Amino acid sequence: MKTSFKFKDVHACDAVVLTCIDFRFWKETVEFIEKELGIKSFDFPSLPGAAKAINDCLVDTDVAMQCIGVPCNLHHAKKIVIVNHQDCGAYGGSGKFNGDDAEEQKFHESELAKAKEKIATKFSEKEFVLIYAKLTDDKENIEFLTVG
Ligand SMILES: [Zn+2]
Repeated sequence: MKTSFKFKDVHACDAVVLTCIDFRFWKETVEFIEKELGIKSFDFPSLPGAAKAINDCLVDTDVAMQCIGVPCNLHHAKKIVIVNHQDCGAYGGSGKFNGDDAEEQKFHESELAKAKEKIATKFSEKEFVLIYAKLTDDKENIEFLTVG
């Protein structure tokens, strides 16, 4: 049977959600954004490390900055959500923190804050939501924490 895929024939969305490409997190992230944050329409760029991609940008024309710029300028997104996660390979994984979960979280919080600051120089009027996806219950579950 052929599936039918609905198309939203509009040109504006509520938010842009920048997340990591990691297959272990993105589906759960979509669910979190829709169910917990109540955001129904959003652009969803994924780049390795999420905030890292922004922080590594040298110029505004870099692809990571375009991933924020296009949703904001063309789709009139009012909210910018950035999601970093625990054990992110782009940052060298959890191993880099010698099993210190608190230290790892603190690091990601500062990365998210840095990315926000960088984006805010261009889009200061937007509402920012910074999220850290933390592993819980012996790495059986993901908890999404709002950290800024
Ligand atoms: Zn990652």
